[in-house]
Amino acid sequence: MRKIQMVDLVSQYEKIKPEIDNAILNVVQSSAYVNGPEVKAFQSELENYLGVKHVIPCANGTDALQVALMALDLEEGDEVITTDFTFAATVEVVGLLKLNSVLVDVEPNTFNISIEAIEKAITPKTKAIIPVHLFGQCANMEAILELAKKHNIKVIEDNAQGIGAQYTFSDGTKAMSGSMGDIGTTSFFPSKNLGCYGDGGAIFTNSDELAEIMRSIVNHGMGKRYYHDRLGVNSRLDSIQAAILRIKLRELDDYAEARRKVADHYDRFFAQYDNIQTPVRESQSTHVFHQYTLKFDELDQFALQAFLGEKEVPAMIYYPVPLHAQEAYTSSDYNEDDFAVTNNLCKTVISLPIHTEMDEEQLNYICQSVQEYLEKN
Ligand SMILES: *Cc1c(COP(=O)(O)O)cnc(C)c1O
Repeated sequence: MRKIQMVDLVSQYEKIKPEIDNAILNVVQSSAYVNGPEVKAFQSELENYLGVKHVIPCANGTDALQVALMALDLEEGDEVITTDFTFAATVEVVGLLKLNSVLVDVEPNTFNISIEAIEKAITPKTKAIIPVHLFGQCANMEAILELAKKHNIKVIEDNAQGIGAQYTFSDGTKAMSGSMGDIGTTSFFPSKNLGCYGDGGAIFTNSDELAEIMRSIVNHGMGKRYYHDRLGVNSRLDSIQAAILRIKLRELDDYAEARRKVADHYDRFFAQYDNIQTPVRESQSTHVFHQYTLKFDELDQFALQAFLGEKEVPAMIYYPVPLHAQEAYTSSDYNEDDFAVTNNLCKTVISLPIHTEMDEEQLNYICQSVQEYLEKN
């Protein structure tokens, strides 16, 4: 059996090796290493794929979030509502910009931000909501956009885990994840669904005005060259990464399909357990399975993880500590009763290997290994 990995990037590369090698070599020989034609081409291909007017490539998904927030002209102390159950980058940038993050609980089925909790958290100071399309499935965007419109709040979709997912509104309109809010952001970190071979990220918007501001922010706040209109940063996607991403973007839907097949296999196996919740697939959103996460009624996660580790099956706990309880992001304003779901999830979830290169033999072995643990405990 091939060695099981959380993500097998080498096997994936081997399938597209001639194209990738050629693309990298072409960039090296072109000397257009930064903002070259490959970056422009990738930008427009991603615009087409997402059906969004503007894509602004940048250096990573964290910068993408920071630039998005900078573009909204918020003031110190303005409140940004986001989910308690996500990777820390989402909330980190809020604090860096001296805005107040307001963390809220999630839905128990999808683990995505709870609409009820958002509603409760809105105050006159709320200026933005950052839903995260966690583990590859869209948050309830229809309800979020309605709330945002009603209260005049901006929406930034953190789409680092959800690229390629498609959302269907109740009137039947479809939209790609990341293209529905005022701004969408993503990460091309190698292990993401659309990953490059280093760091990378992008920002999406349908607003010409926001696009112009964000293009300037990622480039030191410049409008005209050497005329700095605002405070900016230096955040660029390099040409080699863009060339790689152009090739992988063409594979993205097939990659999602491969991940879905893995999820189907796991779903079928774990359906026999009443005490395990397999990922809930909502009808409004397709699922691109950035992670495959099981939720147990009760679980000693670290014992299961260690047991699997001994059998050379990697497994991860996303996430072991809710953000509101993290030293860096906690606040005395929080009330533990408001985080019933995230407090429970952090103690009962475990994510199994899922990627585009898994075979039956590996999947069967993983399922049997979990079964063995359950029989012994
Ligand atoms: C990975 C990730 C980010 C950060 O992306 P980087 O490219 O690593 O900076 C932000 N938000 C979420 C939800 C992520 O999973």
